[in-house]
Amino acid sequence: MNKAEAKTEIERLRRELNRHNRLYYVLDKPEISDAEYDRLYRKLVGLETQYPDLVASDSPTQRVGDKVSGEFKKVRHSRPRMSLDDAFSLQEVEDFEQRAKKLYNSTHRSASSWLAQDRINTSYDSGDALLPRMTGHHQGKSEEGLWDYVCELKIDGLQIVLTYRDGLLATAATRGDGVTGEDVTHTIKTVRDIPLKLSKLLDMVVSGEIYISKRDFAKINSEQQKTSGQLYANPRNLAAGTVRQLDPKVASGRRLKSFVYDLEGGVSPKTQVEILKELTDLGFSVNPKNQLCRDLSEAEKFIRKWAEGRDELPYEIDGVVVKVNDLATRRMLGVTAKAPRWAIAYKFPAEQKPTKILDIVVQVGRQGTLTPVAVLEPVKLAGSTVSRATLHNEDEIKRKDVRIGDTVIVRKAGDVIPEVVSVIKSKRPNSAKPFRMPDKCPICGDKVVRVEGEVAHKCANKNCFVVQLRKLEHFVSRDAFDIDGLGTKILEQLYKEGLVRDPADLFTLEEGDIEPLERFAEKSASNLIQSIQSSKTISFNRFIYALGILHVGAQTARDLTNTFSDLDEIIHIFPSSFQEVDGIGEKVANSIFEFFQDEHNLALVEKLLAVGVVIKRATALTSHKLAGKTFVVTGTLDSMSREEAEAKIRMLGGKASSSVSIKTDFVVVGINPGSKSDQAKKLGVKILDEKSFIKLL
Ligand code: NAD
Repeated sequence: MNKAEAKTEIERLRRELNRHNRLYYVLDKPEISDAEYDRLYRKLVGLETQYPDLVASDSPTQRVGDKVSGEFKKVRHSRPRMSLDDAFSLQEVEDFEQRAKKLYNSTHRSASSWLAQDRINTSYDSGDALLPRMTGHHQGKSEEGLWDYVCELKIDGLQIVLTYRDGLLATAATRGDGVTGEDVTHTIKTVRDIPLKLSKLLDMVVSGEIYISKRDFAKINSEQQKTSGQLYANPRNLAAGTVRQLDPKVASGRRLKSFVYDLEGGVSPKTQVEILKELTDLGFSVNPKNQLCRDLSEAEKFIRKWAEGRDELPYEIDGVVVKVNDLATRRMLGVTAKAPRWAIAYKFPAEQKPTKILDIVVQVGRQGTLTPVAVLEPVKLAGSTVSRATLHNEDEIKRKDVRIGDTVIVRKAGDVIPEVVSVIKSKRPNSAKPFRMPDKCPICGDKVVRVEGEVAHKCANKNCFVVQLRKLEHFVSRDAFDIDGLGTKILEQLYKEGLVRDPADLFTLEEGDIEPLERFAEKSASNLIQSIQSSKTISFNRFIYALGILHVGAQTARDLTNTFSDLDEIIHIFPSSFQEVDGIGEKVANSIFEFFQDEHNLALVEKLLAVGVVIKRATALTSHKLAGKTFVVTGTLDSMSREEAEAKIRMLGGKASSSVSIKTDFVVVGINPGSKSDQAKKLGVKILDEKSFIKLL
C-alpha cells in the first residue's frame, strides 16, 4: 500500500472506529464484536506506525473512550483515566516486559548519571519530574521484587471512579473520554458492595469495575425478551446501560456488583499487593483470584489457567491484566497518551473447536457479491451449536487451502458469525475436494464476474439478491409454509450471513446459527427453530404454491393438486395435460412445465424432501355429492377456517374457487364478507350462510 492509499484507508478506519466507539461507549449498542473492533483498531495502529506523520490528534488511537453524553452532569477526573494496551498472544506479553525493562534500564542509567552530575553541580531542581522518583526507593536498590507482577482477572464490565471525602462517597463517575466522565452517583449508590462510608475518614479516589453476573444477565435478558424484545448483547453492555440509567430504581433492581483495583490519596502503598490489601481493609470488594507472580512465567501460567477456566467463573472476564507490582518501577515507566507502560491486558482468544466441512456453498449478497460458506458438521461452540461458517472469498479459501471434506478449526468471536480459522492438514482425506467459484450465479444463473482490483466475485445481475429474498419471503408466507417469526429482516440477515441460501436451508438451521444474529437471544432462537420445524409437514397445494412457480397462485395450486394428487405426476406430465384442469390455460401450463424442466428447481424439491419436508396428500374424495358444483367461500366462518371449508367441498367432489363468476354455483358467506358477496348478489348466484352450508355438507 503506498502512502496515498494508506491515507485513504486510515481515514476510512478512523471513521469506522469512531462510529463504533460512539455505539459502544455512548449508546451501549455495539454493532460489531470486540474481536472485530480490535482487528480494525490494530489495522489502524499498523498503518499509523508505518506512516507516523499521518497520525492525527483525533484518531481513535490517541484517545480513550468517547464523548461524554449530555444526559449526565460532567465530572473532571483528578488524573487521566487510561485504557490498557492489549496483547493477543503470550509473545506480546513477553514483548511488553522486554520493552518495559529496556525503558527502565535506560531511564535508570540516565537518571543516575544526571544525579551524579547533580551532586557535583549542586544545582538540583527537586521539582523535576524524573529525579524525585529516582531519589526514592530505587536508588541503589537491588533488582529483587522490581519485576514482580500482579495478575488480575480482566472483568468485562465498565470502569468506575469513586471519590470519597472524609470517608464518605461523594461522587461516582464513568471513565468517559478519560479526562471527563459522567456523574452516575445515583445509580452507583445502589451497588451493594460499594461502601458509602469507609472504615477510615479518608479523602481518596478508588477505581474498579462494575459488572453483572452471568446468572443475573440471563435473567434480565429473558425479562427483556418478554417486555420490549430489546436484548443486551453481553453483560458489559447491560452493566453500562444500567449504570447510565437516569432512574436509580432500574439500577437497584439489577444487582450490579463491583471489583476494585486501584486507589490514590489517603494512604501510601508501595505495591499493587498493598493497594489491594488496603482496599479490602477499607471494605471494598476485591477479586479473590488476583495473584502475585514472581516473574513473567508465573504470570503466563495464571493466564493459561484462566483462559481454560473462565467458564467456571460466575461473571464474564475477557482477559487477564498483568501489572508491575512495584509502584516505584511503575513511576519510572510512566504512561503513553493512552495507557500505562507498566501494565498489559492479555485478551483471551475466541473459543475454537475442530469440525468437518461437509460442503461449500455460495451465497449471493445484496450487492451481488458471492460469498462461499462452509457447511459444517454441527459443533457446539461458546454455548451453542453452529453448522455454517463464512469463508469470506475465493482468495481466502486458497490462502487457507480449505477443501470439502477437510477437518478445520472454527471459532466464534463474541457475537459474530463463526469462521474457519485453519485446516488440520494431517486429517485431510484423499477424497477432499478443492473449491471453485462457480462461473454462473447459483441463484439466477447469470454470469459471475470478478471485479478488477477486488477479491470479490459478483453476479452480473443487479437484482439477484432481492429476487432471492422475495423467493424466501414467498416460501414462508401464510399460504405457503406459514412459518411464524420469519419476517423480512430476519430472512435478510439469514441470507446475508450465508446461513440460508435456498428455502431448504431453513430446515437445517441450528439455534447456534441464529443466536449471533442481531438481537437474537437463546429463547427467541429456540422459538424460531421450533416454529420452522413444526411447519415441515405441509399440504400438497401449499407445497406447490411455496415453490413460487410463475403464474401459480394459491388457488391455481389448489386446482392443480385437486386434479393431480402426486408430485411425481406433476413433474413428469406434458403441458397439454395441465390444461385439463379448470382455470389453467396455455400460459400457466407452460410455466408449470418449464419450472419442472429446470434442474435447479428439481434439485430444490429433492433437497426439501431430503431435509425432512413431508407432503400431506390431498384429502381423498369421500363422495361425489357436490360434483360439478363450484363454491366460493368468503368472510370468516364460525366453526371452521376458510381453508377447512374448501377442503370439505373438495372431499365431496366440489370445486372451491377464489373468484365469483357466472360459473359459480354457491357463495358461502361468513362474517365481514366483503365484495364477493355483493358480486354474488349482482350475478344472481345463490348465497349460503354458514348454517345452510353445513346442512348442505
Ligand atoms: P480494554 O477493555 O481493552 O481495557 C481497559 C479496561 O479494562 C479498563 O478501563 C478497565 O475498565 C478494565 N478492567 C477490567 N478489569 C481490570 C483490572 N483488573 N485492572 C485494570 N483494568 C481493568 O480497554 P477499553 O479502553 O475499556 O475498551 C477498549 C475495548 O473495548 C476495545 O479493545 C474493544 O474490545 C472494546 N470496544 C468495542 C467496541 C465495539 O463496537 N464492539 C467499540 C469500542 C470498544
